[in-house]
Formats: sequence, structure tokens, C-alpha cells
Amino acid sequence: MDRWQNRVAVVSGASSGIGAACARLLVAAGLQVVGLARRTERLQKLRESLPEEQRKRFHQHACDVSEEAQVDAAFEWIERELGGVDVMVNNAGIVLGGQLIDMPTKDIASTLQTNLMGSIYCTKLAASSMRRRQVAGHLFFVNSTAGVAGYKPDPADESLNAYTPSKFGLTAVHEICRQELIQKGSKIKTTSINPGWVATEIVPDETKAKLGEVILQADDVAQAVMYALATPPHAQVEQITLRAVGEYF
Ligand code: NDP
Repeated sequence: MDRWQNRVAVVSGASSGIGAACARLLVAAGLQVVGLARRTERLQKLRESLPEEQRKRFHQHACDVSEEAQVDAAFEWIERELGGVDVMVNNAGIVLGGQLIDMPTKDIASTLQTNLMGSIYCTKLAASSMRRRQVAGHLFFVNSTAGVAGYKPDPADESLNAYTPSKFGLTAVHEICRQELIQKGSKIKTTSINPGWVATEIVPDETKAKLGEVILQADDVAQAVMYALATPPHAQVEQITLRAVGEYF
């Protein structure tokens, strides 16, 4: 991880779950980390919980990634205060209730706007910062096994409605970014992280109860991000799919 010391990692959705776990490991590994989220009080708590020596490397910025103007403002702040972005962890995501065929259209739009467009807004600005400074940075997409499958694999599960299309779209965004960066002669890496169920706030309590111990922890996913980041400059981990042992689909 030597080459990442004091480099700048942006983690969207750092206020809880997988994003918070990524932020902790990245800060501990010596990077400067900018946590983006709407709940700034959670970001503040995360900062306070860090060992004193690490605290100065955690920065927070209120940002609703579904609003392009807010993403623009956050990245302007990062450029001004920290000089640019070297690692982008696109992690912010939501699941709303209901089924695609009869839920409110505004909830479908909100899911796509956050999970898909939010990642696109952040990726464009992060890649632009890396390319302008000629940094061989790293773009991460926290996707999902649902985004790899593109459908609801287990008939017994609740439909994830617009969530699955939003993540399926992210699979294509990742691949297109990878190809475009190669065409531009860039050394920026891209990695898609595809977890199955993870014990975080996004998963309803009933689902957690049903899964019992067959569920990943946020730290498992964050460790996968760290593994891909730590690979040498010539090696690219394109995808990591993680499931808890015993998770069938
Ligand atoms: P959490 O609910 O714990 O975390 C979601 C994070 O996303 C929060 O920090 C939240 O922050 C942030 N977020 C949501 N909407 C926005 C927004 N509009 N702007 C900025 N931040 C936003 O769940 P997870 O940690 O599990 O989710 C992280 C990612 O992992 C998601 O993309 C999810 O789809 C993916 N994933 C999760 C799985 C699971 O089983 N848990 C499985 C597969 C993938 P705030 O509300 O403060 O804005």
C-alpha cells in the first residue's frame, strides 16, 4: 500500500455499513479519506470513533449523490482542499419498498438516480481528476450479486424492484469505463465488488432474521476493496463476488 500513502480516496455513502467500513480501513492504511453522505452527524461520529492519529485523515462532506449539483460542489471542495481524487469508492445506495410494476414511479426514479446516476456523477469527476493529474487511480463500484444476475434469483425473496436494474446498469457502467479508459491509454483501474447479503441497515430485520448467520459483514466487503487496491499497478482485479458461506443464490 506504499504508493497510496496520503493519496485521496472518496467514499460515497460513508455514513454507515460498507462505506463506513471502507472508510475505516482506508484511513487505517494511510490514505486521506473523504466520506460523502447526507447524514453528516453519522460522518462526524465515524470521525470521532477513529484513533486520534487517523482522525486528521478523515474528511467529511455533506452530499446527496443523486443531485448532480451537490456532487459537483463536493468534488470542487475536494480539489480545493485536498488537490484531487486518487481512489473513488462508489458505494452509496438505497432500496425502497414495493414491486417495480406497482410502486410509485418517483421511488423507482429515486433508486435509479441514487444507485446508478449517483455513481456516474462521481465516476466522471473522479476519473477527470485522475486523468488531469495523470494519476493511475482506482475506481470501485459497489455493485451486488443482483447486479450481476439482472433478475431476482430466489423466487422466495422479495422483489428488489428498481434496485436490480440500477445495479445491472452499474455492471455495464463499470465495463464501459474500463474499455474507455483503455482506449484513452489510461492506467486507471476499475473494480466491481459484488456482494450477496451483508448485515447492514439496508437489509430489513426480517431478512436478517431469516438469513441467520448466512450473511456477510460490512468488513468482509471492505477487505475485498483493500485487496483490489493493494494489487501492483499492472494487475487489475476486475470483479470480486462475495457471498456468505451457505448463501445459495
Ligand atoms: P447502508 O444502508 O448501511 O448504507 C448505505 C449508504 O448509502 C449510507 O451511508 C447512506 O448515507 C448512503 N446513501 C444513500 N443514499 C444516498 C444519497 N442519495 N447520497 C449520498 N449517500 C447516500 O447499506 P450498505 O452499506 O449495505 O450499502 C452500501 C452499498 O452496498 C449499496 O450500494 C448497496 O446497494 C450495496 N450492497 C449491499 C448489500 C447488502 O446486503 N447490504 C448487498 C449488495 C450490495 P446517508 O443516508 O447518510 O446519505
